Amino acid sequence: MSERKPFIAANWKMFKTVGEAVAFTEAIQKEVGPLVDREVILAPPFTALAAVRGLMRAEGYRLAAQNCHWEEKGAFTGEVSLPMLRDVGCDFVILGHSERRHVFGETDGDVARKVAAAIRHRIPPVLCVGEKLEEREDGRTAAVVERQLSSALAGLGPSDVGELVIAYEPVWAIGTGRTASPEQAQEVHASIRERCAAVFDKDIANRVRIVYGGSVKPDNVDALMAQPDIDGLLVGGASLELASFRRIVQFVKL
Ligand code: PEP
Repeated sequence: MSERKPFIAANWKMFKTVGEAVAFTEAIQKEVGPLVDREVILAPPFTALAAVRGLMRAEGYRLAAQNCHWEEKGAFTGEVSLPMLRDVGCDFVILGHSERRHVFGETDGDVARKVAAAIRHRIPPVLCVGEKLEEREDGRTAAVVERQLSSALAGLGPSDVGELVIAYEPVWAIGTGRTASPEQAQEVHASIRERCAAVFDKDIANRVRIVYGGSVKPDNVDALMAQPDIDGLLVGGASLELASFRRIVQFVKL
C-alpha cells in the first residue's frame, strides 16, 4: 500500500495582493478545516509568503515559493535566495516550472543548480517536468521528461531525496483548458517512478510523490486522483477561486 499523502498545491503565479492572499488563506482553512489524509500547499507570490505563513494554523497546510536563485547571496538584482525562503518559513520551492523554462529561458542546467541548492538548504523542491505539444506529437514525451529528470537529479544520492516532489506538467495542458487524460498522465507518472527507481532505489521511488499539473479543474480532479501513480496536483488557474480550489482539495477517492 502506498504511504504517499496526496499533495494538492495552489500555484498562484503572479496573482493576488497580500490582502487577497491573506483572505484566501483564512477562508480555505475555515471552510476545509484541518487535514490529515492530504496536504494543501499554498504558493503565493514572494510578496505574500510571510503573511500567508503567519496565518497557517490548521494542520496539513504548507507553504511553497515559486522560484529561487541557487546562490546564497550576492549582486543578483531581483532574485530571492534559499536562506531568504527559509527565513519566511517555506516548506517547499517550485523549480523548473514551464513558465520559468519557456517564458524566462531557464535551462536544464539552471534548474539542476536550483534543485541542488534547495536540497543543500533543506527546502524540498517541487521539480516540474513536461513536454511541449510538438514534442508529444513527435513521440518524444518520454525522452524529454527523462532528459529533464536526469539533468535535475544528477549528482543526488538517496539521502538527498527527503520530501522531493516531482510535478509532471505537460506544457500543452498548462493554462489551456486542455487536460491530459488520466491515462496519459498515469503513463508518464509510472515512467517517472521507474526513472526514480533507476536513479535512487525502489523504496525511494515508491515514496516520492509525483503530482500532475495542467488544467486541473473540479470536474476532472477525481478521475486524475484515481490513477495509482498520481499522488497529487499542482493547480494554477483553478486555485485562484476559493470554490474551485476547495472542491479540488476535497477530491473524492473513486
Ligand atoms: C501550473 O501553473 O502549474 C498549472 C498547472 O496551471 P493551470 O492549472 O492553470 O493549467
